[in-house]
Amino acid sequence: MLRIGLVLPDVLGTYGDDGNALVLRQRARMRGMDAEIIRITYGNAVPDDLDVYTLGGGEDTAQILATAHLAKDGGLNRAADNGRPILAICAGLQVLGHTFRAGGRTIDGLGLIDATTGGLNKRAIGEVATTPVAAKDWAGQLTSPLTGFENHMGSTILGPDARPLGTKTRGIGNTDDPAHAGAEGAVQGSVIATYMHGPALARNPQLADLLLAQALGKKLSDLEPLEIAEVSKLRSERLGKNAD
Ligand code: GLN
Repeated sequence: MLRIGLVLPDVLGTYGDDGNALVLRQRARMRGMDAEIIRITYGNAVPDDLDVYTLGGGEDTAQILATAHLAKDGGLNRAADNGRPILAICAGLQVLGHTFRAGGRTIDGLGLIDATTGGLNKRAIGEVATTPVAAKDWAGQLTSPLTGFENHMGSTILGPDARPLGTKTRGIGNTDDPAHAGAEGAVQGSVIATYMHGPALARNPQLADLLLAQALGKKLSDLEPLEIAEVSKLRSERLGKNAD
């Protein structure tokens, strides 16, 4: 049984990011695997032994609540220490960094990503697309362009222990700071984080399969491909010239 942890969907779940857990479950089931979603709601402990975890985006107040709960609980940090794959979206990305700005304050994050988040000059809203960064780590298996929808005020700067998930071809990505332009998302240890809503895994099936493969202790190329016409159509629409 593949157990997918949907972390705090009641506070971190804007733009249908809960759909990332649904996509993981469905792609596992389509390959004949048993899979279930464990919904971990606010105030409840995060089990540290699930196979894969997803965190979504959220408004500033929700994000502050989520961070306080996850820091006190410690389960997600232990899961990361155990190498469990974790996908974090937007506010989720910020929460996993060292610090972020929300509600006029600087808040300590969980420190799973070497990243600090301040404020953009102007809110980033719209389509974002990237080319995956070639790397020797597990996320370096990605080859397909990544597509999503961004809506954030956060400006995230990565430190040397994190690397970008992709290089931006469209949209804003992590920051509008020219010194760090081009980076989108973050990879560090077993964590992949991105500003891409969509939900990201519906738009990026290769990313979904990478997380599944990692959860199963396999390589991406070990998973039997799935041809889903609707997914191909969505990707060609979103990655095409008229994708707005
Ligand atoms: N509150 C954060 C920001 O504005 C995250 C927003 C989100 O998750 N969509 O940057």
